[in-house]
Amino acid sequence: MTDRKPQTMGQQFGRRSWAEPWKIKMVEPIRLISREAREQAIREAGYNTFLLRSEDVYIDLLTDSGTSAMSDRQWAGMMLGDEAYAGSRNFYHLEEAIQTTYGYRYIVPTHQGRGAEHLISQVAIKPGQYVPGNMYFTTTRLHQELAGGIFVDVIIDEAHDPTSEHPFKGNVDLTKLQALIDEVGAENIAYVSLAGTVNMAGGQPVSMENVRALRKLCNNYGIRIFLDATRMAENAFFIQEREPGYQDWTIAQILREFCSYTDGAWMSAKKDNLVNIGGWLAVNDLDIFEKARNLVVVYEGLHTYGGMAGRDMEAVAIGIHEMVEDAHIAARVNQVRYLGELLIAWGIPVVRPIGGHAVFLDARAFYDHLPQDKFPAQTLAAQLYLDSGVRAMERGIVSAGRDPKTGDHRYPKLELVRLTIPRRVYTQAHMDVTAEAVMAVYEDRHNVTGLKMVYEPEYLRFFQARFEPLP
Ligand SMILES: *Cc1c(COP(=O)(O)O)cnc(C)c1O
Repeated sequence: MTDRKPQTMGQQFGRRSWAEPWKIKMVEPIRLISREAREQAIREAGYNTFLLRSEDVYIDLLTDSGTSAMSDRQWAGMMLGDEAYAGSRNFYHLEEAIQTTYGYRYIVPTHQGRGAEHLISQVAIKPGQYVPGNMYFTTTRLHQELAGGIFVDVIIDEAHDPTSEHPFKGNVDLTKLQALIDEVGAENIAYVSLAGTVNMAGGQPVSMENVRALRKLCNNYGIRIFLDATRMAENAFFIQEREPGYQDWTIAQILREFCSYTDGAWMSAKKDNLVNIGGWLAVNDLDIFEKARNLVVVYEGLHTYGGMAGRDMEAVAIGIHEMVEDAHIAARVNQVRYLGELLIAWGIPVVRPIGGHAVFLDARAFYDHLPQDKFPAQTLAAQLYLDSGVRAMERGIVSAGRDPKTGDHRYPKLELVRLTIPRRVYTQAHMDVTAEAVMAVYEDRHNVTGLKMVYEPEYLRFFQARFEPLP
């Protein structure tokens, strides 16, 4: 007989794993089609993963937009949809969830994020004004330009360097912003366009210290700050993990504190808010609110639904409360990190540190024999699909589009392929299969010759452009 206490498995083997704070109640079958069928599918899609049929995809990492699994509570909420044209009960739930979680005063619902970007751009930009931002986002910048604004990138230099381990690569470079203010004058700046976990930089966060300093600088000149809140819960997780003084704060507390330094936000609820469709604009200024509320009835729908069904608004309201649960967001970001760290361990070039919603492959380093106008990231996304049925997305020269003045390609420093992880959808085994597929494509990298563009749409060309392989 021994009086030793029974050991847990973890103590015996010296490791303790974490696991998702949910279990699966309903499944959706997926299948891997044959290599031959994949060759035909990608050819028919013009080597653009956006043009593949979802049925031909095995593991779909195209985007985390609208691809989340909703919870049983959200589905139950869908049954409580109040589909009244005006004054739906679900709108008031949504308004309350945004006010208490993000802290903004006035809410305008929209059909998705770009609807809100359209409204804020039309309301807050006068033609010819500058819009400084911490790196561009495709739809955001386009709406700013369509409203007559001129986007200026004021993100720190580290954001453009995929190897920099800076913990807050999304930060605004206040010296760059100050220089712009000095050059053009504060009255010619519409607002600062600030994004949390900067998508195009690899899902990189902004620190609390940075947003606080930004507020101070903008206060000196009466410049507003509007936040792209699309992935702010993930940004809050990085602050909790990395920024001194925030380890004992909850995600909810960090998020509210961060938003308090800004004047409003637009939101793609299809991301952090854990729904399949929806968006909103939230501001503190009554005048801006009234203008946006006037415009929303032209472009989206009445101001108490903005293009969403009542049931959709209910799902967003519940999703907002689930989004700030610490266990949820930790599992979310750690799953992304699990995939990223596997790839780093295997020597695959990825953007570091691993971001909040996706692992970004550095296509420039991956295919160091391909010049940027042979579309290395577009090529890599196509090769990954061919190898394994895994669907990823180009975030490089195709996404960057053309300069509206010169008509030339913009040549972004970052030429990336994004492996975007939907929330609460895939398991660790899917991450392992994905990592092995990337490795197989990496081993075959010298046999790849690049692509040429054979069809180019005028707006947001990455969605619909078509390509052919180079000989
Ligand atoms: C997705 C996204 C948007 C646009 O939102 P949609 O819901 O797709 O219209 C805006 N900003 C960022 C950072 C995004 O990721």
